[in-house]
Amino acid sequence: MSQIKFYQGESLPLEMHKVRIVQKLNLIPVEQRLKAISEAGSNTFLLRNRDVFLDMLTDSGVNAMSDRQIAAMMEADDSYAGSETFYKLEAKIKEIFGKEYFLPAHQGRACEHIISKVFVKNGSVIPMNYHFTTTKSHITLCGGRVEEVYADVALEASSKHPFKGNIDIDKLTDLIKKHGPENVPFVRMEAGTNLIGGQPFSMENMRQVRDICDKYGILLVLDASLLADNLYFIKVREESCRDMSIREITRAMADLSDIIYFSARKLGCARGGGIATSSPELADKMRELLPLYEGFLTYGGMSVREMEALAIGLEETMDEEMINQGPLFIAHMVQELEKRGIPVVTPPGGLGCHVNAMEFVDHIPQEQYPAGALAAALYIAGGIRGMERGTLSEQRDENGNETLANMELLRLALPRRVFTLSQVMYAVDRIAWLYENRKLIGGLSFVEEPKVLRFFFGKLVPVDDWQIKLAAKFRQDFGDSL
Ligand SMILES: *Cc1c(COP(=O)(O)O)cnc(C)c1O
Repeated sequence: MSQIKFYQGESLPLEMHKVRIVQKLNLIPVEQRLKAISEAGSNTFLLRNRDVFLDMLTDSGVNAMSDRQIAAMMEADDSYAGSETFYKLEAKIKEIFGKEYFLPAHQGRACEHIISKVFVKNGSVIPMNYHFTTTKSHITLCGGRVEEVYADVALEASSKHPFKGNIDIDKLTDLIKKHGPENVPFVRMEAGTNLIGGQPFSMENMRQVRDICDKYGILLVLDASLLADNLYFIKVREESCRDMSIREITRAMADLSDIIYFSARKLGCARGGGIATSSPELADKMRELLPLYEGFLTYGGMSVREMEALAIGLEETMDEEMINQGPLFIAHMVQELEKRGIPVVTPPGGLGCHVNAMEFVDHIPQEQYPAGALAAALYIAGGIRGMERGTLSEQRDENGNETLANMELLRLALPRRVFTLSQVMYAVDRIAWLYENRKLIGGLSFVEEPKVLRFFFGKLVPVDDWQIKLAAKFRQDFGDSL
């Protein structure tokens, strides 16, 4: 069962939890929003949270915790070495993923750092369904190269394909043959493929990739940061897995992986991360780096309270009614935007709703960061903070030229169990207003451009006075409403 049916009319996504702690939100007037985005260099990462009404920047570390998670935090066993809390978490990892060894790390990218340092060498080629920003940076820093072997449908913003995160098996095979398996230390599969709109891969696809890895003696690494959504989509979209429980699907995916790593800021609704494997040899190789970069083997940079919360959060991830809330809300938001003719990524994925900026503001050239411009515009229009996932999130090539992204997306993350349906509908309304006024939106250009991960803290300016005009139009249309 994935959704409660309504007797009258269309069923709405229904929360299977109640709210017991609330935080007051503040919506500042449009004139102040204009000032705030200007001071933030038109970069939503640089906004202060007090100036944000709905924070849809990310699902990282901002998912709502459950009462059981908070309660468990009080039981945490504080100690540098040998904390009981660690053994609890290790046992939970073993129970759920069937992996003997667990290496804790302070967050997802720390796992990528360790895995890259151990397995990636100069000239290594790492095939994957799609890159993630921090993954690519770590692999590149170690002298390796990311090769994406997605199926063509992955980049079709509007599609009915249920598994756009699949790896194209022929492309993968060709790539391995071309570079030689000795230069391919591992294949990486990213669950709930982040940068193409939180799109899942299928169990069948993962099995095929495993076969190829076996054939060529290559490791299969699963980035399980967005696993919860992928599990849910496998359950509801893959015929052969319909009768499996979420726990069984998880175990089947884990059995196909040599190494699993994840950001616990997403998976498990806590803050931290970790690497799991059944191989003592692989664990030994990675373990040495833990005390150096993360912390001692029984905390790896995580607080013991977060580890307690993570153990419970992982257990709760096995509950379909818990993990369906995100995808159902996202699907609703996507449908409401589609009804209004607004270009969005379909089918709806996990993580958030993705507005297709390439179409929304098709008058802005990619060199002027259409998705970044749209993110700034939506903040002005509604105090809503989204994130650019497009050319701004890429980095320039060796010659300083722009790497134009395949897709220009404005990602509106729906952190799990955080927003109400009326807040989602407010966002839909402001996006609809913006769509009516899209010709007012202009491009951006850099004034401060960091070389690595520039989207995090780079500063930009609008190419002309479009932001001022947009704010004025808002005031005209909304009267004295915020
Ligand atoms: C967020 C994320 C990461 C990095 O995790 P952090 O905890 O933010 O460092 C890695 N992979 C994917 C797919 C992610 O979504």
